[in-house]
Amino acid sequence: MQPGRLIVLTGPSGVGKGTLLRSLLQRHRELYYSVSVTTRAPREGEIDGKHYYFVSRTQFAEMVKNGELLEWAEFAGNCYGTPRKPVEAQIATGKSVILEIELEGARQIRQSFPSALRIFILPPSEAELERRIRSRGQDSEEAIARRLRRAKEEIDAANEFDIQIVNDDLETALARIETALFTPASS
Ligand code: ADP
Ligand code: 5GP
Repeated sequence: MQPGRLIVLTGPSGVGKGTLLRSLLQRHRELYYSVSVTTRAPREGEIDGKHYYFVSRTQFAEMVKNGELLEWAEFAGNCYGTPRKPVEAQIATGKSVILEIELEGARQIRQSFPSALRIFILPPSEAELERRIRSRGQDSEEAIARRLRRAKEEIDAANEFDIQIVNDDLETALARIETALFTPASS
C-alpha cells in the first residue's frame, strides 16, 4: 500500500484556516485531521479531543520530553503540538493527514517530513485579517494585538511554502486547495 501524504496548512490566526478545513473535511471524508495538543484554555464551544486536546503546561512539557510530539511551538503565550503516533499510524495505512499549524511547526515538518505538501493561506489584506479576528469575538484585546504582530512575521515567510492561496472568496480558496491536493503531479 502507498503511504498517505502529509499536508500542512499554515497562515496567520484569523485568516480562515479552520473555516476552510471544516469544509474540506466535510467534502473529503478520506482526509484525516490531526487534533493538536495545546496549553491554551478552550474557547466557547471547543470540545476536548475534537478541536484540541487541552493539557496543562506540565503535561505538555512531559510530552515534549518523551518525544511524543512530531513538532511543537509556542504561539501567543501558549504551547501547541502535533501528537506523533496517530499521524504516523494514519500515513502508514495510506490516509492523507492534514496538520493546521503555525510557522515554526511548519518549519520543523519541513526538516522531519520533507515530502509534506505545505500550503500557506494569505488574507486579502491586513485590515480584513483584523476584521476577521475581531468578528470571531473570542480573543481579548491583548491576544488580538499579539496575533496581529505575529501575523506580519508569518506572512513574510509565505514564500517558504510550496503553495500560497489567498482566502478572499471562500469557495475560490477551497477550490484551489482541492486542486493542490487532488491534481496528480504531471510526470
Ligand atoms: P483561523 O482558523 O485561521 O484562525 P477562522 O477559520 O477561525 O480562522 O476564521 C476567522 C473568521 O473569519 C471567522 O469568523 C470566519 O467565519 C471568517 N472567515 C473565514 N474565511 C472567510 C472568507 N473567505 N471571507 C470572509 N470571512 C471569512
Ligand atoms: P488558535 O489558538 O487560534 O486555535 O491557534 C493559534 C495558532 O496555533 C494557529 O496558527 C494554529 O495554526 C496553530 N496551531 C494549532 N495547532 C498547532 C500544532 O499542533 N502545532 C503548531 N506548531 N501550531 C499549531
